[in-house]
Amino acid sequence: MTEAATMTPNTANTDSVDNIEKKPAPNFIRHIINEDIRTNKHNGKVATRFPPEPNGYLHIGHAKSICLNFGLALEYNGICYMRFDDTNPSKEEMEYVESIKRDVHWLGFDWGEGNLRHSSDYFDQLYDYAVQLIKLGKAYVCSLSPEEIRAYRGTLTEVGKDSPYRNRSIEENLALFEKMRCGEFEEGQQVLRAKINMQSPNINMRDPVIYRIKKMSHHMTGDKWCIYPMYDYTHCLSDMLEGITHSICTLEFEDHRPLYDWVLDELQTPCHPQQIEFARLSLNYTVMSKRKLNELVMNNYVNGWSDPRLPTISGLRRRGYTPAAIRDFCERIGVTKSDTCIDMALLETCVREDLNNTAPRAFCVQRPLKLIIDNYPEGQVEYMEAPWLAEKPALGTRKIPFTRELIIEQEDFMENPPKGYFRLQPNGEVRLRYGYIVKCVSVDKDPTTGEVLAVHCTYDPETRHGMPQSNRKVKGTIHWLSATQSLPVEIRLYDRLFNVADPDGAGGDYKDHLNPESMVILTNSRVEPDLATAKPEDHYQFERLGYFCVDEYDSKPTQLVLNRTVTLRDTWAKVEKKGG
Ligand code: ATP
Ligand code: MG
Repeated sequence: MTEAATMTPNTANTDSVDNIEKKPAPNFIRHIINEDIRTNKHNGKVATRFPPEPNGYLHIGHAKSICLNFGLALEYNGICYMRFDDTNPSKEEMEYVESIKRDVHWLGFDWGEGNLRHSSDYFDQLYDYAVQLIKLGKAYVCSLSPEEIRAYRGTLTEVGKDSPYRNRSIEENLALFEKMRCGEFEEGQQVLRAKINMQSPNINMRDPVIYRIKKMSHHMTGDKWCIYPMYDYTHCLSDMLEGITHSICTLEFEDHRPLYDWVLDELQTPCHPQQIEFARLSLNYTVMSKRKLNELVMNNYVNGWSDPRLPTISGLRRRGYTPAAIRDFCERIGVTKSDTCIDMALLETCVREDLNNTAPRAFCVQRPLKLIIDNYPEGQVEYMEAPWLAEKPALGTRKIPFTRELIIEQEDFMENPPKGYFRLQPNGEVRLRYGYIVKCVSVDKDPTTGEVLAVHCTYDPETRHGMPQSNRKVKGTIHWLSATQSLPVEIRLYDRLFNVADPDGAGGDYKDHLNPESMVILTNSRVEPDLATAKPEDHYQFERLGYFCVDEYDSKPTQLVLNRTVTLRDTWAKVEKKGG
């Protein structure tokens, strides 16, 4: 251990809504809201909600929706509810609920006291509204089987057919619905349907099912209910009950908007939120559908929902992405009405830009090669001082021990280098960054394999601080560590999960395109001793290598594990140009 200062320059994540930069770019939703405020449409108020279904972890697409909904509420001094859309009872939902809350907070947003909601909070009211629809003659209990309902529904080109149960009396419907609620029917035996129009060109309007029987416990309401409301019916009423002004959702719900409006209009509810659709985010080199993410996780193609290769928020976090970088990304991609696929390189640029300004610098040798300085006194240690972050002198400095036996990257030495190789080579000189100039004088090799085991150098003691003679030039500078006074660490190098831009459209199954080199684990790597105090989620730029983050789960004080967030430059751009 060294006597060097043990401060870590990483500060706690103090990111909160207060220091989220407000830089509203005009978009069509802001335009609508500005108009509504001007005309006093919702009494000048803005209320939004983020309504995930707790059936998986959140991903970067959800981040777009979170930044939009919570961001608008902040911007317009309004309110954004965190609402779990939990109309579909199932057993494993609590893990997802907790992960979603954690991810939204981590992104820097806070729904505030009293604003955490569940669709299931409204089950009583939703039931009462269903009774009201029946009394208005606008809903009926249908006894067709699920297959028959499908067959009667028609297709995109063919209108539907009325159910034979469509004209049941209000009294009969009320009695049957009550029996459904009391558990007197089996699943699939009866449903409650809105009575709209089986001839509508919009399939969503052909008497959609609004309640079905599910004899399952619910993670919030237990066994209180055996009938559960459908999404479309629940969503508009939940929005209304919360007084949402702008109900922002993705484009695939455009065709559901007439139903959203129909329910509220028929019930003459006291307020009528406006549904506004925007294009969902898709990113290349990954998949974003919950079904596929679930498949990758459950079948162990990746290591859990927080695998740093996944586009999940918790995966990105573990990988070393920062909330600021993700928010910046969401702002840069903007909000539009047309579907586009965003280049992963943009997400990477955002995190590079953020970490470039904030991540302390340090040395790491990923694949060590021993370098012995023959003329350096055995047992001597010098501490080379280097800034944690040159642009932020207040962070102080680190002290890197320099000893006779060092390590350098294997790739920073070549015995027979090509022209233009400026790193270490026989009889060549390089500067050891923040240290001396060394000259390679000999090489130790394995007599049988020819593998280079160590390089021997001499150092020039005059070169610790700059150059003794102004005409002397050394082209290469490489990083290094003491072989004896450095810390062993595990390095996990991550790359894109898929090796094609569009795994869904590249032929075959999307899983055929998984990148087998998406994770490479290095176990002989070492870092500066000052990183002994590094904490989970601390970020570093390892000079010349990339940005890294201390692993949240596997890193221990005795064995640091570091994840590569991103390389310093976009290495994929090069590969693509070469057509590789
Ligand atoms: P899936 O269809 O895979 O189940 P979902 O989109 O229905 O996913 P939800 O949990 O219901 O997932 O989504 C919560 C909110 O996040 C919704 O308002 C939805 O519109 C939004 N959202 C989901 N995916 C994206 C995406 N890729 N881009 C933007 N917003 C998204
Ligand atoms: Mg959904």
